[in-house]
Amino acid sequence: MSFQLFGLSVSGGVAIGRAMLVSSSMIDVVHYFVPEDAVEHEVSRLLRSRDVVAEELSTLQSELPVDSPAELSALLDVHLMLLNDAALTESASTWIKDRQYNAEWALSAQLEILVRQFDEMEDEYLRERRSDVEQVVERMLGVLTRGGTTDRGAGVLPDDTGLGHDPLILIANDIAPADMLQFKRAFFAGFVTDVGGKTSHTAIVARSLAIPAVVGAREASRVIRQDDLLVVDGDAGLVVVNPSELMLEEYRFRQRTSDLERQRLARLRNTPAVTINGETIELMANIEMPVDASAAIEVGASGIGLFRSEFLFMNRAGELPGEDEQFEAYRSVVMAMDGQPVIIRTVDVGADKPLERMSASELRHEHSLNPALGLRAIRWSLAEPAMFRQQIRAILRASVFGKVKMLIPMVSRMDEVRQSLDAIGRAKQQLTDAGKAFRAVELGAMVEVPAAVLVLPSLLKHFSFVSLGTNDLIQYALAIDRGDEAVAHLYDPWHPAVLKLISEVIRQARASGKDVSVCGEMAGDTQFTDVLLGMGLRVFSMHPSRIPAVKQAVLRADTRRLEPWVSAALRSGDPWEACESLRVKALGLA
Ligand code: PEP
Ligand code: MG
Repeated sequence: MSFQLFGLSVSGGVAIGRAMLVSSSMIDVVHYFVPEDAVEHEVSRLLRSRDVVAEELSTLQSELPVDSPAELSALLDVHLMLLNDAALTESASTWIKDRQYNAEWALSAQLEILVRQFDEMEDEYLRERRSDVEQVVERMLGVLTRGGTTDRGAGVLPDDTGLGHDPLILIANDIAPADMLQFKRAFFAGFVTDVGGKTSHTAIVARSLAIPAVVGAREASRVIRQDDLLVVDGDAGLVVVNPSELMLEEYRFRQRTSDLERQRLARLRNTPAVTINGETIELMANIEMPVDASAAIEVGASGIGLFRSEFLFMNRAGELPGEDEQFEAYRSVVMAMDGQPVIIRTVDVGADKPLERMSASELRHEHSLNPALGLRAIRWSLAEPAMFRQQIRAILRASVFGKVKMLIPMVSRMDEVRQSLDAIGRAKQQLTDAGKAFRAVELGAMVEVPAAVLVLPSLLKHFSFVSLGTNDLIQYALAIDRGDEAVAHLYDPWHPAVLKLISEVIRQARASGKDVSVCGEMAGDTQFTDVLLGMGLRVFSMHPSRIPAVKQAVLRADTRRLEPWVSAALRSGDPWEACESLRVKALGLA
């Protein structure tokens, strides 16, 4: 049956492929295709894992103390029964034979199907067996991994499209931002989640994969079935499940058109970003991991405008990267950028970026207080002074290899500024004492809280540049959780209060001779290019994949015409009306 689901578009384009449902607990499972001649071997790996678990469970049962509760033995019986049920191993074998999935992938794919069947059961007792089947599969996965038989070398990652497999579209309830990172290898053709807002960090990382994506599609992971044929329309925020042949044809046509458009834009790589009236605009890249620097270079970015260093700290099972490891990571980016500036932001953990593996919805569930207003960004660093100094030392040391700048996230108070300067001073002293080299590093503040806008003159005295984090600025100015799809329709960059805050920061920074950039998602959204240029912005930082389209908008812009247009609108007596007219013009709706 064909049907459609609506969500929020986070990354444009069209993807056509097969649904691959993944629960967040199974994201770690290795996925690869086994070669045809290794299919039999893979099936025997799977069967062997079943036999080993069966043996373990039988041993457990036989060794149960005589006085143990009868339920325990009954539970083991249930597990043994589930283990030997054809719906598990035999069906998983079919995934291996038909789709050439590796055993772990086949098992987790089958688990998704079983879990739904259990969820839909009327009988509460049977419904609760869902966790039993999950435990049995966990045990089998444990055996597969323990056996060391996971030989990815023999397999082919699903990004190898030469195999004739349908592309895969990831469907999940929610994915933690750090987990998204492992999909950086173009593993999937598209992805869809039930929850999340347009500027949630999961969406941001997804956007950096440059694959069509829809978040906040609410019921998607419940109503889409494993292996359903899907169209993800990332422009409209639409998912078509089991499309008709006619619809597929139309979307294939759109896919070809957008591929051609991408190729056309890619030719702008070496074209300088200069407006019609000759103003040079810096188009810098936002990155999450050192490997992303290559994408920045590929599109001709003029530097790294935001290195979200916190991604180095996430999913480390409590073991945070030490000074040397951080230094190597920063240095590799600085060297790769070969003299172009690299702005490293000190860690911005907290809110929807917890250190430990946790998706945004789990986070909200676990910490009932509002994490976006809690111990995050600079507040967290100041609460961990040794760790903060360690990161500062690593950044300073990397400065020897190129042009490094340091950026402090979410500054809102002067004592945060003083403490940060103090930490930097102490870190420098420690390096000097240890005889380690470093150079002068410019210091910048992220303006992400409305309070920082109101005290900007004081902040500007201490920083040589500011970077507007519009994702958070919108969240805090409008009191809209950026990760919550329930209020996503109220998350409005066109709100006059937001536009006024942004233009005020740009105006004041420029008036005091300080550099100012926007590194929030607005910088990469061509709807806003003219408006931001008209406000006087000359430095934009965005995902590398957005640079070509923004460059095209810059090449067509004339700042002499845009500046009076935007400032007249912002000064007008009716800001709502004025911002609405900016929106209508920017979107070409007039
Ligand atoms: C922002 O808030 O706009 C920003 C760039 O930082 P992050 O998205 O990482 O919070
Ligand atoms: Mg931010």
